[in-house]
Amino acid sequence: MKILTIIGARPQFIKASVVSKAIQAREGIHEILLHTGQHFDANMSDVFFDQLGIPRPDVQLDIHGGSHGAMTGRMLEQIEAVILSEKPDRVLVYGDTNSTLAGALAAAKLHVPVAHVEAGLRSFNMRMPEEINRILTDQVSDFLFCPTGSAVHNLEREGFGDKWAHVLKVGDVMQDAALFFAQRAMRPSDLPEVLLRRQDQVEGGKEEGRLANPFILVTLHRAENTDDPTRLAAIVKALNAVHRDVAPVLLPLHPRTRAAITRQGLELLTHTIDPVGYFEMIWLLDHCDLVMTDSGGVQKEAFFFGKACVTMRDQTEWVELVEIGANELVGADASRIEQAASRHLARPVKDDGELYGGGKAAERIVEHLLQGA
Ligand code: UDP
Repeated sequence: MKILTIIGARPQFIKASVVSKAIQAREGIHEILLHTGQHFDANMSDVFFDQLGIPRPDVQLDIHGGSHGAMTGRMLEQIEAVILSEKPDRVLVYGDTNSTLAGALAAAKLHVPVAHVEAGLRSFNMRMPEEINRILTDQVSDFLFCPTGSAVHNLEREGFGDKWAHVLKVGDVMQDAALFFAQRAMRPSDLPEVLLRRQDQVEGGKEEGRLANPFILVTLHRAENTDDPTRLAAIVKALNAVHRDVAPVLLPLHPRTRAAITRQGLELLTHTIDPVGYFEMIWLLDHCDLVMTDSGGVQKEAFFFGKACVTMRDQTEWVELVEIGANELVGADASRIEQAASRHLARPVKDDGELYGGGKAAERIVEHLLQGA
């Protein structure tokens, strides 16, 4: 069986890495990898291929920038040509980016079965480009690989129970990745000195990675925050206050956010570093004392690493974390953000392995792809 995998953005490299390994471990199935080029910087793309052992893409497109329509349209045209020449048995897409939608639509129109990893997630906010991408991708998918029970429930409510498509709860491939790569966690080389325990304070002088003081790991890149000047200003103000009054904030800064902060002339006073590789990111998740984010994936990773999460959005697709009290939604309201940071700092949470499948999602996905359901 020949699988054409379409990836293009940072979280997709991480998700695909574990499924690619599971494909390589099985007889009778092989993968062609297409990278759309949506993320192309060394620290948003290459580092993940290097660290996670993802095979070099068989097809490398160079499509990034421009409007959503223009980007998706160019991808659609070029992916269609690849499907026509490669003739895959299935097209595998991940998550909710323009690369996801373009891959799914190109395949569906050519009657190639589409498999969607992270199917069924909903924020119920149609102003998010990701929400549009995931709803449309699910509609043309044949295999809907759901990470959670709530994702299955969302699809059932949309009438998928009566369709011919296979709705399958397999668990979350990001938990597979976190467990598989946990041993490879690596301290970022550009971590600010002030966050590090002085070497002479460290027991035996060897525990290089331990930190003197609590710190808060923050990521911020959702368009609903970066492209809305009022929200972005409120979040920057809140993060500055948290950094000053609650605990030092470390922010690996996404290029889109850096550009928006510069454009708006905002002053961000937290520690910032360039976006980090996955091994550095899981080190930070493991060593921090609180996660604050507007990312989808990072909300779950906080949980995998036993940290509470404050989510700077109005909705989340990962509702189960809010239900069990591991995650609090605070929107872009400066005072709610500050109060939540103090409330949740160093508050441990426990992952009992039940919510996200315990690290077996990739194997289950490959099994279903091989069996046809
Ligand atoms: N991530 C990373 N380096 C960073 C920031 C994030 O490796 O500097 C990882 C993070 O651990 C997670 C993934 O990127 O696995 C999440 O991607 P992102 O937040 O860009 O997208 P989302 O999950 O919101 O779609």
